[in-house]
Amino acid sequence: MTRNPGKPASPADLRALDIFEFATSGRQAAGALRISQMPRMLAEVPSDVSDASDASGNPAAGEDDTVFTWQAEGSTQPELQDDGVEAPQPYLRLAVHGSVWLRCQRCLSPYSQHLDVDATYRIVATEEEADEYPLDDDEVEVIVGSRQFDLIDLIEEELLLSLPLVPKHTVCPEVHESLLSGSAEGSADDESEENSAADAADKPNPFAVLEKLKPGGSGGGKH
Ligand SMILES: [Zn+2]
Repeated sequence: MTRNPGKPASPADLRALDIFEFATSGRQAAGALRISQMPRMLAEVPSDVSDASDASGNPAAGEDDTVFTWQAEGSTQPELQDDGVEAPQPYLRLAVHGSVWLRCQRCLSPYSQHLDVDATYRIVATEEEADEYPLDDDEVEVIVGSRQFDLIDLIEEELLLSLPLVPKHTVCPEVHESLLSGSAEGSADDESEENSAADAADKPNPFAVLEKLKPGGSGGGKH
């Protein structure tokens, strides 16, 4: 088995990669992937975000074909087999970095969401083996390998999983003012509640008025 980490991987290779060979020979690969090459990711980006970002001076339409950089590294780690013998098993580490334009669900303006993927996979041969694999390590995921493994699909899958459930700014620039006026309204409400409480204290209690109107006062009727 020859170590050949320097071999460049063409895009065609990446759609049909011998992932077992990649791991056992300790190969490395890196590249850039456009969001337009990942239909499922592209579907997550609102189509009108690029228009909106034009208006606010952010990247123009056409420049929003976000590029993600990725690195993959194959390796093996010795594992104790059922027969009590240690044998090297295939692993893959994958890192993906980039930013995608999403729409903030709080202020509805587009913003750039940074996505980071750093995953380690134990590569198994079959679905059955994946099901049986003991998941005692949170750091390691299990994937079913192939001699024609689609690495681009794995990168896309990980990017999809790294998307925020509710996209939003850490701090919304637009919402800032409305939050302030919102809190002002809140304090105004508090004041008016205090005022109405004060009003109630000043106004005579209608039941007290009725008491005064009763002839003879309490117990007077029993005479
Ligand atoms: Zn926002």
